[in-house]
Amino acid sequence: MNIVFLSTEAVPFAKTGGLADVCGTLPSKVAALGHRATLIMPAFRSIRSAGLPIESTDTSFAIPMSPQKLIGARILKSKLPDGDVPVWFIDQPQYFDRESLYGTSNGDYPDNAERFAFFCRAAMHAISRLEGPIDIVHCNDWQSGLVPAMMAAEPNAYPWIKKASSIFTIHNLAYQGHFDRDSFRWTGLDWKHFNSNQFEYYNHLNFLKTGIVTADMITTVSPKYAEEICGPEQGCGLDGVLRGRHDRLSGIINGIDQTVWNPETDTKLAATYDARFYKQGKLANKREIQQRFGLEPNESLPMIGLVGRLASQKGWDMILPVLQAHLAEDRPAQWVVLGSGEARYEEPLRQLAQAFPKRFALYLGFSDELAHLIEAGSDVFVMPSLYEPCGLNQLYSLRYGTVPIVTETGGLANTVVDCTAETLKNGTATGFFIPAVNAESLDQTIGRALHLRYHEKEKWQQIIETGMSQDFSWRHSADQYIELYAKTIALKNSKEKTIIKRRDESATFR
Ligand code: ADP
Repeated sequence: MNIVFLSTEAVPFAKTGGLADVCGTLPSKVAALGHRATLIMPAFRSIRSAGLPIESTDTSFAIPMSPQKLIGARILKSKLPDGDVPVWFIDQPQYFDRESLYGTSNGDYPDNAERFAFFCRAAMHAISRLEGPIDIVHCNDWQSGLVPAMMAAEPNAYPWIKKASSIFTIHNLAYQGHFDRDSFRWTGLDWKHFNSNQFEYYNHLNFLKTGIVTADMITTVSPKYAEEICGPEQGCGLDGVLRGRHDRLSGIINGIDQTVWNPETDTKLAATYDARFYKQGKLANKREIQQRFGLEPNESLPMIGLVGRLASQKGWDMILPVLQAHLAEDRPAQWVVLGSGEARYEEPLRQLAQAFPKRFALYLGFSDELAHLIEAGSDVFVMPSLYEPCGLNQLYSLRYGTVPIVTETGGLANTVVDCTAETLKNGTATGFFIPAVNAESLDQTIGRALHLRYHEKEKWQQIIETGMSQDFSWRHSADQYIELYAKTIALKNSKEKTIIKRRDESATFR
């Protein structure tokens, strides 16, 4: 199969979250299984700090963004680090050569509809410059959500569209790319397509909804999240739309890139370790955290780790009071937090770090190196997400022998096995579910976990070792995506055959 991936993020070129981990890895895994894969993404400023060579090409074209506005783009090329997958960057400095991907701490860039409508149209154009027939265009998140609709609305716009099927993967339903009606003009399409079966959503242009209603197949990043988003509680206003396409929706858990996230070979750690000697290895990394942040150099205190966007989704409104209580009451634990995002969470965290410097290590910002060190040096990893499409940090935690404490939602529910009398007995327990989504319940669950760590050491070790032996490699997920691509192509072929047959039958009838 020949598969084109469209994404705005891919490690190591551009990252704000899990989307980058997926799109920086899945194409290589698909290629390793004998398929052709290409990734197309915007040439954001950050691609130049990836440390990989970026070549210029003579391929360029212009997209009419309005009758008076013709915007040019140039293709730059590189490769994903793992394997030989080509990456094509849409270079348009006015839109993409900016400090951040989507906006600043003051909010989203006001021209995001225009920027990403341009990306969608430019990607369609770039695909026509690729070699060979295209089987699958795999779009990811709202920024490429217009592509399936553009393919359906103008099937003759490019020759490759005839054979290609579209897959749309939702990595987070809450980010929809919802803009005023007028933004539709950036698509360059006739206004007849601005209807509820195509681009229109309550008289607005909604990129994500557009992808959902028009893609040949829709996926999300865990089976549980696929179920949850079809209900009103987690549907973010699109549950009705998703229910309408339920037969085309499935969930595939993300893998982890084990060349990057592997405690045996991780160059970002103070000490590497394997499943046999994890105790010594984890201790060395804990010491490194204590030293680097000036925490009390105490090996016996449990280290509670958190890494994640400072956004309400990640449960910070529950975490803050629990952290405050732990520190103020001088409970026997140390905390290490790495986060960046909303300013409203930064200030209280900063104040607590200043007030309790021996117990609380804080880094506000983005640091890949520290994310690895925290996974390795912590005893437990706290992830009380209000919702979690898949989640990667709990998977890293399992791999690094760090016991995850999570809410029973989305991918967290699909990947962590709650510690109960039964799961301890049958040897499947890998972490702890927080039974209710509130601070009290989070506090109690942390207490439950730490109690086991202190008082039932054998059981605690069993949980760690079971977690470390789990296989969340990409191989399994890549196999599932390939199966889905094949199914989507077969569906398209059978649909085409039915149309030809119907045409023949009606010709005979006449
Ligand atoms: P989401 O995609 O919702 O942000 P995931 O758990 O799926 O959450 O993935 C988050 C990814 O981003 C992980 O690889 C995590 O280590 C990383 N990450 C999040 N915040 C930071 C940060 N401040 N510094 C470094 N890495 C971070």
